[in-house]
Amino acid sequence: MVRFGSSGIRGLANVDVIPELALDVGRAIGALYGDVVVGRDPRLSGRMLSYALQAGVLAVGGGACDAGITSTPTLARGVGGYGCGAVITASHNPGEYNGIKLWNPDGMAFSTEQQEEVERSLDARDWKAARWDETGRHTERADLPGRHREAILRAVGSAEVHVVVDCGCGATANVTPYVLREMGCKVTALNAQMDGHFPGREPEPTEANLAALRTAVPALGADLGIAHDGDGDRMVAVDEKGAFVGGDKLLALFAKQRARRGLVVPVDASMAFDDALDVPVYRTRVGDVYVAQEIKRRGADFGGEPSGTFIFPSETMCPDGPLAAAILVSLVKERPMKQWLAEIPAYPIVRSSIPFEAAARTAVLGSMGPALATLHADEVTTVDGWRLAFSDGWALVRLSGTEPRVRVTAEAREVARAKEIHDRVSEAVRRALP
Ligand code: MG
Repeated sequence: MVRFGSSGIRGLANVDVIPELALDVGRAIGALYGDVVVGRDPRLSGRMLSYALQAGVLAVGGGACDAGITSTPTLARGVGGYGCGAVITASHNPGEYNGIKLWNPDGMAFSTEQQEEVERSLDARDWKAARWDETGRHTERADLPGRHREAILRAVGSAEVHVVVDCGCGATANVTPYVLREMGCKVTALNAQMDGHFPGREPEPTEANLAALRTAVPALGADLGIAHDGDGDRMVAVDEKGAFVGGDKLLALFAKQRARRGLVVPVDASMAFDDALDVPVYRTRVGDVYVAQEIKRRGADFGGEPSGTFIFPSETMCPDGPLAAAILVSLVKERPMKQWLAEIPAYPIVRSSIPFEAAARTAVLGSMGPALATLHADEVTTVDGWRLAFSDGWALVRLSGTEPRVRVTAEAREVARAKEIHDRVSEAVRRALP
């Protein structure tokens, strides 16, 4: 049984995510949506899965267009004119993984309802083989990375700063270094050769994985460092001194610049947003697709996640790492990164996780709400787990999706208060466990 998560289908390549699965996903979306444009990141299993998916689309009479290696936002921006789009990628996962993520013509990721429709089609094998002379037409195009770069140039304009870009050997290597140079930057590129072995670093742009970039930026006297994940829907940065600037800080920086009507962030995002901004802050389930849907629903003008995904809806509904990089560069042209970050409050966060017996999951879910109610929070929201808001801090209680653990996050303006909230909430969580 195949199931989509918030990031589409994901698993070990050629073990979980096999050509037969890609073939059937192709048949299902070909039958439901017609013509499909397909991109992939440079993973070694990418071509195998992309070809299988395209074959499935053709087999039910849809047209399949092979867009070659594209970042996720490059492909998502190119779906207009097709029934839907597919990217073969496992995003920030290591090289042995791969996956399939589906996109709408307006650049939005498939909603939960759309993914469930595809799942039902896969379960029921709900498609009809086309007659031999009615199989779909196959095309290729190689212009999507160029179109992506042009769109970014139109949106952002010029900036002459020295920037070091670490593409992690991923799919952004044909977008970000070029577009920043076209903007007028002096660009030094690291790991800009696409290579599915990811020989430069792991695809996830964490502080630990970016040692080379953190060294290179101050050593070269550059103004800024930029890093992406494997498929380019994420962007993080390094300041002129070589300090890591994570997605949480960038989210706050962009929000301050861009959010005028409303800001959308997931439930685990900092309360610094509420303190530093004068716009309504809407919180969603964790996952960029939920952020995008809420931006559309609320008419908000910016949203993103602390993991480093940023959505600028005036440009595209897909989290676009290269666009975020260009916007950050244009900000750094005005003032050094350190000055921008000085305006953003940073509050202490305490995190922990509490294990429970896997078999007790349903019981834990049932008893958690009443146990947390005894804490008398000002507000409890349950869009994703339980978020307890207090006047001077908050806590989030979520069951991990991958292991039998309850994750507790607490934040306050003072360290002692964050710890106190964390400990009280953890105590209540333990009472809810059998
Ligand atoms: Mg990604």
